Amino acid sequence: MTFTLALVGRPNVGKSTLFNRLVGKKLALVDDQPGVTRDLREGPGRIADIKFTVIDTAGLEMATDESLQGRMRKLTERAVEMADVCLFMIDARVGVLPADRVFADILRKKNAHVILAANKGEGKAADVTILEAYALGLGEPIRMSAEHGEGMGELMDVLRPLSEQFEERAMADAPDTDVAVDDEDPDAPRVPTKGKPLQIAVVGRPNAGKSTLINKIIGEERLLTGPEAGITRDAISVMTEWGDVPMRIFDTAGMRKKARINEKLEKLSVSDGLRAVKFAEVVVVLLDVDIPFEQQDLRIADLAEREGRAVVIGVNKWDTEDDKQDKLRELREEFARLLPQLRGAPLVTVSAKTGKGLDRLQQAIMKAYDVWNRRVTTAQLNRWLTGMLEQHPPPAPGGKRIKMRYATQVKTRPPGFVVMTSHPDLVPESYKRYLVNGLRDDFDMPGAPIRLTLRDQG
Ligand code: GDP
Ligand code: GDP
Repeated sequence: MTFTLALVGRPNVGKSTLFNRLVGKKLALVDDQPGVTRDLREGPGRIADIKFTVIDTAGLEMATDESLQGRMRKLTERAVEMADVCLFMIDARVGVLPADRVFADILRKKNAHVILAANKGEGKAADVTILEAYALGLGEPIRMSAEHGEGMGELMDVLRPLSEQFEERAMADAPDTDVAVDDEDPDAPRVPTKGKPLQIAVVGRPNAGKSTLINKIIGEERLLTGPEAGITRDAISVMTEWGDVPMRIFDTAGMRKKARINEKLEKLSVSDGLRAVKFAEVVVVLLDVDIPFEQQDLRIADLAEREGRAVVIGVNKWDTEDDKQDKLRELREEFARLLPQLRGAPLVTVSAKTGKGLDRLQQAIMKAYDVWNRRVTTAQLNRWLTGMLEQHPPPAPGGKRIKMRYATQVKTRPPGFVVMTSHPDLVPESYKRYLVNGLRDDFDMPGAPIRLTLRDQG
């Protein structure tokens, strides 16, 4: 079983060109003149060893007739329904156009799993589009050139975990000769193929208890893929429902084990945690209460923050701790001192072994995810900015007055904000921190890896 990738986007962004590259044949018709009628096209796609089915939605005429919008929508919707994941392409040379936003809205409404790609990205002109593309709220864009084959490595990196998920799913779906399968059983494990499970990664030092934790979660909750935990133990990720929330849990311990099988341990052990972090929405950094905040823990927590992931700190083996109150105080103090960049992120004590604290961990994950997705209206932001400026005006370095005029949220996941200001280069880091901390406190976004950009406006 392979997954299906749909190439979507407005006409002329390069869908057919990419289709040809992925399929490796001149199956699709490429034409510089928009206007050639085409329909959905399917072919066997491949990047390196990753195989999938690719659907090309090129086929939209740039005719000015009334039905264009409707046909465009229909075709895209059909492709989205057929696909497991959509590669949404924009043209990096011309930037984000209103027509692109129409597609972004369709994808959002359909709850599609989207990979954003800025095509024709070979030139310098693309730099601006890359920044603009974040504002679509669809995550980090991949810069590529379908024509010149650039960005295929990045695309491969994003597709690989997906491909592994589908292999795993296929394994779980394989008929088991020992077990009678009843299709009508309403309690039978469900595999949601549409809609997106919350993606979490459990990372931490070896022996922190990652596997114990994941097995506990799976053991206590309904397992959606894999008939038994034994199978999923070797897998890259497991699908489960935790407190009624569908979740895909990336298991770095499992990755190591798998890597060992493939005899690529050395190469993968460095990057397995990183990969889990890159693919997750919420990262649980699991610490061992006996040796918390080790170098390795700090590195992975910092990495998760820099990658813009929502972070939850789990302190495991809490059952072994005698002096819980003092220990908790000490942990909070260390957390604040060693990881200031994660200020306000939840710290939850758990015992993977007994299951105590798992409900609180689940709630912390949901809350962190919620914060990560938070959207603040421009009106709210500007009222807030006015207050912040009054309370503590920016300094006037060298007598130059810094005037901050306007703030807007340009993205979520994580929340990203732009403040239009005069002399952005003169604004001290401390003032930026004041604004970021203000955003966190005033809009209830504790622990969120907030991105703040100052942009020049005279
Ligand atoms: P579609 O309408 O989205 O299917 O777009 P096509 O694949 O037909 O491409 C439209 C035009 O863009 C063609 O002239 C392609 O040669 C050109 N094109 C596609 N990809 C790239 C790229 O990466 N760089 C540049 N410069 N041109 C590209
Ligand atoms: P991993 O390398 O992070 O996957 O760690 P494991 O899940 O393999 O756990 C390492 C060891 O810690 C095992 O011996 C577990 O039984 C033990 N362990 C894990 N969680 C707990 C816990 O909550 N309490 C106690 N006392 N031991 C635990």
